[in-house]
Amino acid sequence: VSIDTKNVLTGGIGSSNIGGTFGPEMKLAGISNIVITGKAENLVYISIDDDKIDIRDATHIKKKKISETETIIKKEIGNDFQMMSIGPAGENLVRSACIIINNARAAARCGIGAVMGSKNLKAVAVRGRGNIEIANPKRFEKIVRECNEKLENTDAFKLLRKYGIYFNEKPWIEGPQTPYRNFSGDIPTDEEEEKITREEFFKYRVGRKKCCNACPIECWSTYSWKENGKMVTIDQLQYNSIHNFGYKLGIFDPKLILKAHALLNDLGLDEDNICGSVGWALECYEKKLLTQEDTEGITLEWGDSKTLFELFRKIAYREGFGDLLAEGCKRASEKVGRGTEECCIHVKGQELFETLWLSPAWSLGTVISPRGGTHTRGAIMVEAVKGSVSKKQSEKLFGIPDIGEMTAYKDKEKLVFFMEKFESVLDCLGVCFFVHGIHRKGMLIPKDLSNLLSAATGSDISPSNLLRIGERTTNLEKSFNVLHTNWNRKDDYPPKRFVDHPLSGEFRIDLNKWSSMLDNYYDLHGWDKKTGWPKRENLEKLDLKEVIDKLEKYRKLPREKEKIKK
Ligand code: SF4
Repeated sequence: VSIDTKNVLTGGIGSSNIGGTFGPEMKLAGISNIVITGKAENLVYISIDDDKIDIRDATHIKKKKISETETIIKKEIGNDFQMMSIGPAGENLVRSACIIINNARAAARCGIGAVMGSKNLKAVAVRGRGNIEIANPKRFEKIVRECNEKLENTDAFKLLRKYGIYFNEKPWIEGPQTPYRNFSGDIPTDEEEEKITREEFFKYRVGRKKCCNACPIECWSTYSWKENGKMVTIDQLQYNSIHNFGYKLGIFDPKLILKAHALLNDLGLDEDNICGSVGWALECYEKKLLTQEDTEGITLEWGDSKTLFELFRKIAYREGFGDLLAEGCKRASEKVGRGTEECCIHVKGQELFETLWLSPAWSLGTVISPRGGTHTRGAIMVEAVKGSVSKKQSEKLFGIPDIGEMTAYKDKEKLVFFMEKFESVLDCLGVCFFVHGIHRKGMLIPKDLSNLLSAATGSDISPSNLLRIGERTTNLEKSFNVLHTNWNRKDDYPPKRFVDHPLSGEFRIDLNKWSSMLDNYYDLHGWDKKTGWPKRENLEKLDLKEVIDKLEKYRKLPREKEKIKK
């Protein structure tokens, strides 16, 4: 499912995608899109049972956690409904609130759970008993089989299927990058590292779980152990959790990391954002920029899971110091002042999960993402993995013979330009981030997707047409941001932390090289280099006439600005 709203952290576009079973169930109910406008008078949930749609009272589940919400609603309308819901965080308009599907999958970032909360909408439940019509079923089935065979032969598939998301032996993302203690630039000790290896987590892994509809990978895992005479069972571990709770906040214990992940899901809090805010508070407290007067008597220490778990709860319910953190670290630091702004690591108001010292394409892709700092559009992981993309594929997809070293800047904007088109297409089609070929050799590429789409719809869609759709999406989102925010070129630079605090005292972003890379990136789009905004010509080429009219009306077309000045 792809969900789009206004971004409550940045003021620009907000978008998020989730796997699980809700999307396919919607299709079986004959629904492709749900548009929710306005606000209910009291808390409600929507039940969609094929073509029967009810808006039902939800005041009896006010402020309930996700697990209770799902249980109560399913008891009322049927166990076979698929659900998306918000927890107390969404109802309390916490800016890091997310939407949860299947008790475990988060539509994360951008505070979209708060948008749902602002509409007094607690949940949407759907049950479909229809069929999904395919224009050319035989051809479609054949291509699905071919894609599955192709995937099954890749190393990435084998790793994901065997180990789930924790497919590396150690958690660093493809290189020595770590947000250790709120992006301090230091790296964890060997002792800390050893505590959160895959082997340590897998002591509690009891099996793989069927999760996203028809996916041959099945990357979800279930973890379970006995504690105080009771079994604790937790579905799914996000790779991000190890970085967020482990490296960023200092919790080096697999069971506590799993519990933190489950707690935030149940509260309906997005862990990437919230760990950014809590990391900010921990660093500020350590540097004495925040005191117990600010925290209302709470002592903040790295890795103190008991206090941090209670703080997560306080954020979700906006209690005491939690109310300040519920605003996100940018707003919180602006309110507190006293130099705390330096400790908030964000891009355009959205806290970073990503580390940006190395891998310029990954970093640029993260910084220019239309929804604020995130790696799911434009960023590319394989840059740091030698040999993960063949020279032939690199030339064909990116127009460069080699994706290069993770410290090199040359031509890296080409990777970003390609990836943002491709990942926009994945989001439009509802294809999982993990199965595309640019992250790992041999997985799905644009041609596979255009073949699937052509067979499903009966229209012939070439790979280049598909990528054009991705480019239109990027321009549409970018134009939305131009209209709704004051962002310009200066907002496409990384946080100072990645320049002033080198990783291991060695790696930092080179701002001169970044500027040239940004110029080249704008050139690829045909955007204005001074403002970073789309120009009339490039929007015309993409047939975005309505967008031109809107930008023109609000004097947000770069050329119009020049004319006005003259
Ligand atoms: S690989 Fe993607 S689609 Fe498949 S189970 Fe994992 S998250 Fe779901």
